[in-house]
Amino acid sequence: MIYIEALEKIFADNSDKSAIAIKSKCEDCGCEITVDVTPTPEGFGFQGGVLLESVANGFLARCLDCYKTNPKIPYSYESTS
Ligand SMILES: [Zn+2]
Repeated sequence: MIYIEALEKIFADNSDKSAIAIKSKCEDCGCEITVDVTPTPEGFGFQGGVLLESVANGFLARCLDCYKTNPKIPYSYESTS
């Protein structure tokens, strides 16, 4: 389940929309991506990239290529070394 509080707020402000496109930069490789976010019963669905919860910024983006090689949430890095 993917739950991101910052996204909940965005959808609360745009309750007439069934999907929201979020333009961002991939946290890992820096490429520009647009992630289409759709609410689902389990949390959120993503297309074009993935959004991950971030303590500092609410959420951050990762492109699909980077997500495939590194699906972990960044703040968990510290505990896995
Ligand atoms: Zn990337």
